[in-house]
Amino acid sequence: MKLFNWYFKSNLLTRILLGLILGAVCGIVFGPKIVWVHPFGEIFIRLLKMIVLPVIVFTLTVGAASVHPSQLGRVGVKALLIYMITTAFAVSLGLLFGNIFQPGEGMKITAVATKAAATIKVSSPSLIDTLINVVPKNPYGAIAEGKILPVIFYCLLFGIGLAYVRNSEDERIRKSGETLFRFFDGSAEVIYLVVQWVLQYAPIGVFALIAEVFGKQGAEAFGPLGLTTLAVYLAFMAHMLVVYGGGLAIFRINPVAFFSKAKEAIVTAFVTRSSGGTLPVSMEVAETRMGISKGVFSFSLPLGATINMDGTAIYQGVCAIFVGFAIGAPLTFPQQLTIIATAVLASIGTAGVPGAGAIMLMMVLDSVGLKVESGTPVAMAYAMIFGIDALLDMGRTACNVTGDLAVTCIVAKTEKQMDISCWQKEKRPAGQLAGSGILRKADPGL
Ligand code: ASP
Repeated sequence: MKLFNWYFKSNLLTRILLGLILGAVCGIVFGPKIVWVHPFGEIFIRLLKMIVLPVIVFTLTVGAASVHPSQLGRVGVKALLIYMITTAFAVSLGLLFGNIFQPGEGMKITAVATKAAATIKVSSPSLIDTLINVVPKNPYGAIAEGKILPVIFYCLLFGIGLAYVRNSEDERIRKSGETLFRFFDGSAEVIYLVVQWVLQYAPIGVFALIAEVFGKQGAEAFGPLGLTTLAVYLAFMAHMLVVYGGGLAIFRINPVAFFSKAKEAIVTAFVTRSSGGTLPVSMEVAETRMGISKGVFSFSLPLGATINMDGTAIYQGVCAIFVGFAIGAPLTFPQQLTIIATAVLASIGTAGVPGAGAIMLMMVLDSVGLKVESGTPVAMAYAMIFGIDALLDMGRTACNVTGDLAVTCIVAKTEKQMDISCWQKEKRPAGQLAGSGILRKADPGL
């Protein structure tokens, strides 16, 4: 009973961090035997996935319906542009760290197929298809299948339509628009409450997920691939501090306050390895912690979770360098330039789900003539990285989600869609995300 009381009364973030540390320790101590915790982690992932689509549908519709369409267009273009620029920085930084650390140097893989390399049979989707698929043939089918980009596209159109209907000259139409808006607004509030409940389970889920990863892969990542892991993680940190920290500072947003507000989302991303799965938490953070208007975050966060993958771009830069060195053919300068272009494009096509970046890495390698075909040295080097993908994925997802939030802050600040009072002092005790309410002040309405 005491434990029960402590669990629900203590600070959420402290509990999550405790779960993280305990999970890592138990994973390393018990090794693969810890796999029995799997169902607890799986339940956490399922709970998050369960709320992702409702969060997007209700929040985005309310957000789009609350903002003037012309302003929404500006927000969209701005967010897209900054997403692309930060990603280009990210992959360059990945290449820089790869060149400094030279992971894979001296390995000279020339052997034939390993078991792992022979079993890789995944292929990356084409970029054009990804773009065309943004327009859903059946929006309700897209919602049912959890396809985020088509859902964003449809909800955005629906929300803009609702904005016009709410402001119609005809009283009957205006009233029905208002009723519909209230329905979506009420549903969004309910789903935020559900997010709070799901978060209460987070410490247990985090423990299980981390224990499993460390139990299975901990030792390998500290072994021969240690240098790659180190280079990738240092590049993540440099990117978060220099690019996001610097970018936020330029727009007069306190980077220290930003990271303190963003930490729940960053930790959730780290353990779930899914930008999409973290969306409910990042939206909650953006609204209640950062005071960002729904009109901005309801659009820019789901978009970012789908197309903005800075961590993934960094990982692709370092890993491409690794593969080059590992097969004894270090990448030339023109090859590295090609990597910058393809990694930016690949990041758009990378889904915000665990492991997606590793699949897109094949497309990036392919662009410089390094084909992952079973039995080749490239496939062997690729298989080595694939082996520790979960560990690399944790960091890159944390970086991806931090980027989504940082860009959303910058867009909101420059569009005057941020409640500045949230940044002057913490309104609530850390680790407890309350329901919304701050925002209505920031919502401009029509
Ligand atoms: N897991 C990453 C994310 O959800 C994508 C990746 O695998 O790089 O952001």
